[in-house]
Amino acid sequence: MLYYLYRHLDDVAGYLEEHRRLCSQLGLRGRILIAEEGLNGTVSGETPMTERYMETLQRDTRTQGIEFKIDPAEAHAFPRLSIKLREEVVTLGLGEDDFSPVTLTGEHLSPLEWQHLMNDEDAIMIDARNQYEWELGHFDGALLPQVQHFRELPEWVRRNRSLLEGKKILTYCTGGIRCEKFSGFLLREGFEEVYQLEGGIVSYGKDALVQGEGFSGRCYVFDERIGVDVNRTGKNRVISSCHHCGAACDRYVNCSWSRCNRQYFCCAGCETDALHYCSDVCARAEVVSMAALGNEGD
Ligand SMILES: [Zn+2]
Ligand SMILES: [Zn+2]
Repeated sequence: MLYYLYRHLDDVAGYLEEHRRLCSQLGLRGRILIAEEGLNGTVSGETPMTERYMETLQRDTRTQGIEFKIDPAEAHAFPRLSIKLREEVVTLGLGEDDFSPVTLTGEHLSPLEWQHLMNDEDAIMIDARNQYEWELGHFDGALLPQVQHFRELPEWVRRNRSLLEGKKILTYCTGGIRCEKFSGFLLREGFEEVYQLEGGIVSYGKDALVQGEGFSGRCYVFDERIGVDVNRTGKNRVISSCHHCGAACDRYVNCSWSRCNRQYFCCAGCETDALHYCSDVCARAEVVSMAALGNEGD
């Protein structure tokens, strides 16, 4: 399950303990962030337990109205449960200038409305995710701001005003939570036509009418699956390639050098050739550290 809710929560520390007890009782696993501005979770569990969880949250006036995005799976998607308190559920780094998406956010578009508007020649689509998410899959023709972190987006927008001025701005992310805030920020910066994809890529990929049309690759998700299918039109294509041999490949692995551990694309063939380092630098670093260990043993 994937969900978020922007709504002011009182006594977040108390609520966190209560929520932790509920998840433990139900045997749920995953990652949940709780802040005064709301909550954001991605959770797995046995079907009857996840149903009880959703019912409990819907009965609670503090969390009523959450929309859950559900994907059936054969097993847990997470190794354990982690619930944390945060200042914000997503951060644009606006400090005292921060605002609540409850009062300011871009217009929500259904998947069908999005599909229609993304082909408008006055529209510009902005991907509000990170580069490693983008590389696995994204909307055709979208723009990825060149930033390292989500919190750097405001500065990028201010530097690139001319690119966005007078356009219909369409923002999207995995499940919608980042765009609730990012689209509100764009409105506050004075852009007039700002839209966001309701429910994000995940909902777009599940919509029976659009079938994920216009999205290429797979959608990066923050659990053991790493990626989920979006485009079901039969015209999807792999847009990433193996870092070593260049073959089309959407298989993310972690660099074998423990101090790097960066995710990169590597085909099964190259991984068995023991070339599972993201770079020559990491491969050499491993050789050097193995040699150092060897010397210690002498
Ligand atoms: Zn390869
Ligand atoms: Zn590496």
